[in-house]
Amino acid sequence: MSLRTILYGYEVKNGQYLVFESEAKVVRDIFADYIGGKSLKAIAAELTAQGIIYYLDKSVWTKNLISRIIANPKYAGADGYPAIISLTDFELANKRKSDMGGTQTELPEITTLIKSKLVCSCCGQNMGRRNKWRSREKWLCPSGCKVDAYLGDREIFTALLIILNRVRNNPELLRLNTSNIEYSPSMEVIRQNKEIERVKEQTGVEFGVLSKMILKCVEHKYECCPLDRGRAMTEALMDKYRNLPIITELDVTLIRETVQKIAVNRDGTLTVTFINHAEVTNIETEDKTA
Ligand SMILES: [Zn+2]
Repeated sequence: MSLRTILYGYEVKNGQYLVFESEAKVVRDIFADYIGGKSLKAIAAELTAQGIIYYLDKSVWTKNLISRIIANPKYAGADGYPAIISLTDFELANKRKSDMGGTQTELPEITTLIKSKLVCSCCGQNMGRRNKWRSREKWLCPSGCKVDAYLGDREIFTALLIILNRVRNNPELLRLNTSNIEYSPSMEVIRQNKEIERVKEQTGVEFGVLSKMILKCVEHKYECCPLDRGRAMTEALMDKYRNLPIITELDVTLIRETVQKIAVNRDGTLTVTFINHAEVTNIETEDKTA
């Protein structure tokens, strides 16, 4: 296998480096795409899909190859190379790269799942996860609501384990006081009703379109009636937890199927909302003996 000795984007003529335009265009696109927010992986996949040749018959682009191109200052004119991109673009791209933690390591599935469910209890926004904060990761609210405790993966995972085991030991925690729950249309239902009324008044509306809208609205209305549906779900949920062995590890499937969201409270404790809307925290004191 022969390796490329001349930097991609250039050719040598009479002992001088010159811009090789067809390749230089690819380099400019790579920088523009990366600054624009595309991932290294996505850029590599696109170039490969387009069949762009890297060298001789080599047309498979990898994340590492793209990463090396972005990190190479010669493209901005260093070491006597004619510049292909501006210094500003070079700096923008490399700033993004270091913000991403240099290497774009993908988070484990469980962390990604928890990230999608973890919200700040003060403002409701999804919690952010900073990869490196004094050598450890740190979870924080993007709007700046402060929690007292340091929250790394370990703190979040441990608190979650405690909550799931509390529920497992005492499934009654999932039981809701349903006496005061009644039908109240959600904002979405109200919006859809208005939309249906508006469409009905128009002339020449296709029946299929209207009936689809009505069905969708019924579906949403159904979701606003937590009474029976909620009760059945609660029973199923309680059964599930009752039959689990002690939970020693966070399980992707269990969390995906039973947890709706995880709120971080101001004091650093967590409140898990289960899919039946029951809420359980990791503070032990309120445990009722079943
Ligand atoms: Zn917040």
